[in-house]
This record gives sequence, C-alpha cells and structure tokens, in this order.
Amino acid sequence: MGDHVSKLKLLSATDGDMEERYFLNRCPDWAPTGVATSDPEADGGSREPLDADGEVSAAFQKKVHNKMTDLLEQMEEGLKTADPHDCSTYTGWTGIALLYLQLHRVSGEASHLQRALDYVKRSLRNLNGRKVTFLCGDAGPLAVGAVVYQRLNHTEDSKQCITKLLLLQPAVVGPDSELPDELLYGRVGYLYALLYVNKELGAGTVDEGPISQVVSAILESGQKLSAGQKKAERCPLLYEWHGKQYVGAAHGLAGIFYMLLQPGARVPSDVLAGVVRPSVDYLRHKRFRSGNYPSSLSNESDRLVHWCHGAPGVVPMLLMAYQLFKEEKYLKEAVDCGEVIWQRGLLRKGYGICHGTAGNGYAFLSLYRTTREKKYLYRACKFAEWCLDYGTHGCRIPDRPYSLFEGMAGAIHYLSEMAMPGDSRFPAFEL
Ligand SMILES: [Zn+2]
Repeated sequence: MGDHVSKLKLLSATDGDMEERYFLNRCPDWAPTGVATSDPEADGGSREPLDADGEVSAAFQKKVHNKMTDLLEQMEEGLKTADPHDCSTYTGWTGIALLYLQLHRVSGEASHLQRALDYVKRSLRNLNGRKVTFLCGDAGPLAVGAVVYQRLNHTEDSKQCITKLLLLQPAVVGPDSELPDELLYGRVGYLYALLYVNKELGAGTVDEGPISQVVSAILESGQKLSAGQKKAERCPLLYEWHGKQYVGAAHGLAGIFYMLLQPGARVPSDVLAGVVRPSVDYLRHKRFRSGNYPSSLSNESDRLVHWCHGAPGVVPMLLMAYQLFKEEKYLKEAVDCGEVIWQRGLLRKGYGICHGTAGNGYAFLSLYRTTREKKYLYRACKFAEWCLDYGTHGCRIPDRPYSLFEGMAGAIHYLSEMAMPGDSRFPAFEL
C-alpha cells in the first residue's frame, strides 16, 4: 500500500492517452439530452434495469445475486493464496471481514456474520502495532472486531477491542507524532475508526473526549501548514502527504474535509464556518472546467477519475457540505462530478473501489441517497451491470486481486448495495 501513489504515477506516466485508461461508456443514458433528466415519465430515456416504479427490477436483483454467489466462490478460492499476514482493510483480511459484515447487513444470514468473525479474528491475532488507521493499520481490525463481536453478543470481547482501539489514540494526537493527516495512513484514518464505532454501536460508545482531541490535532496540523505557506486567508486548512498537497479522498484534502464535516466529529460551528468551510470552498475553486478535480493542488492534468484521485472521492465532501450549509452550489458541483464520472468512469484499471468502476459507481449511490433522483440509481445500476461481466473487459489485474479496495471483494460489496441502494455507504469512508 505504500506503493499506492508510486504505482499511480507509473500508470499515469505510461498511459497518457485517455482511451488507454477508460472505456467509452456505451450505456444508454437515463434520458436523451434536452429532456428533463430527473423526470421518470420523460419519453425516450432508457429504464432497464429499473422497473416501471423506478426501483431496481426483480430480474436485475436476481442477476446480481447470482453473480455475487459466483464471485464470492471465486474470491474464497483466490484468498487461499493471499498474503496471510496482510491484516489491513485496504488489501487484507479486515477488508474481507467488512465485506461479510455488509453481506450480513443486507441479507441477515447468520453464516455471513460467522465468516466476518473468522476473518477479523485472523487480523486481531496479527496486529502490527505500528500503523494506526482504519484502512491500513490496527484501528481497522479493532473497530471491525468491536462491531462483529457486539453483533454476536460477545460484549466483553467487543469492549476489549474498543479499549485497545483507544490505546492507539495518544500516538495519533501526541505533539511529537510524525503522523500525516490523510485517510490511508494519517489522523483522519484513525478518526474514521472512532466515528464508525459510534455509528454502528451507538453514539457515546467512544466518548466525545478522545474524538475531539483527534479533531483538534487535525485542525492544528492543517492551520500550521497553511500559515507556513501564507495561505491562512484563502485556505485556513492545508495538508500534505509525502510533500504533496493531494486533493482526493485517499490521501488528500477532500477526504480530510469530509471527515471534519461529519456531525459525529463535533467540530464547533464557529470552526466549521470560519475554518473548514473556507477551505472546502478553496478546494472547490481548484476543480477543472470539466467538473473533475486534480490529483494534487499542483497538478494541472485532468486525467484521473477515481475514488482515490479525482471527482468520485470529492462527491461525498460536496454532498456533506450541501447538507450542512444548505447552499445549492455544493449540490450542483456534486452533480457535475456525477456527469464526469458517467462519461469517463468505466476504468481499465478494473472493478475495484479504490481506482475501479465499482468505486466510481459509489458516487452515483451517494448522489441518489441525497437527491433521490432515479437517474443516479439508474447509473449506479449500469456500473453494477458492467461489474457483472467481471474479468471480461481485458482490464488490468490488480496486485491483490481479491481484496476489498483493489479487487473482487470491493466489486461484491458494490453489487450488494443494489439490494438497498438508498442505504449504501462507501466502505471505510462514508458514514
Ligand atoms: Zn486508488
């Protein structure tokens, strides 16, 4: 995972041509141009796989269900040769546990919860004691462990996981902590774990104190860099990772701001208005004319359309800002992101959620959740339909082909959302 960025650099260096990295989207759109697209009664637009009521059709649900069964079998077989020591959510066993937790949520099948337990136990036996985030460190297995144990009524085991999770906190807020702030390896990736536990197990499971200390450390770090770069006026919060001011959800500002905007993070309203909001607005002004976002503040090429780098990972931040600040401009720009993703979102990099088609599909689900417009449900289904032909498009095969963030588990997670699309969440990110 340390190679997340270097690998992307390698890819962008070798395949400069847009055609190399994206498939031309040949799916018919919800309605032809010029017709009111939000009107399900409008003539001429395609409907399938939605039924006459604008819900995901029973036939499509069945297709998705069958494919998921098939992919789960392939995944289980493939995992037999996966790295036994990778416990991360991003590419390892905790990610698989999280998938089964999701399958249990949508199906209610007890066997899925048992599987989640088996996989998370594997991770809990192998905590590495170095990294602290939900995606790449010990906070992931501990938070997921706490939830799985609680669902099984193993209350003591669940509490133990939370105690251990909180033992990581001093390393996150300590003054000499060298930790970055981004989601994959930094403070926000630890903050997510605390917010996730409270969301799943009830507010107050983790006290306000430890949460607000982490939030303060994140704010302080951002203000320090911004002041150092003389940007305190324009962008009061600035962050970098490996010397670059990344924009996207995985390493950048959009991921950090999204987490600070969470009601569960309890950022005081004057700080939200005076510090977080102007920073969000600064970032908004960095978008390309196409509506897409650069991978970093210094990058001017409009190329990557991924959850990790580009518009898809910025959508949740814009929608959250819209909900909090009640201004249409945030929603409008999220909608613009949706257009970019629809045009360019079928990736040759595969079907995963970090930089694949399923991850881009999640942006439509987020837009659907907020707007309830059938167009976005339709588009989400079309990207799911693409994932039903898993492996047949000649996409690049990821290094960890069965994992949650790079591979098959992520695509299955996305497909499972079709059962309750109004209630979807991008795993390990959206709350
Ligand atoms: Zn990625």
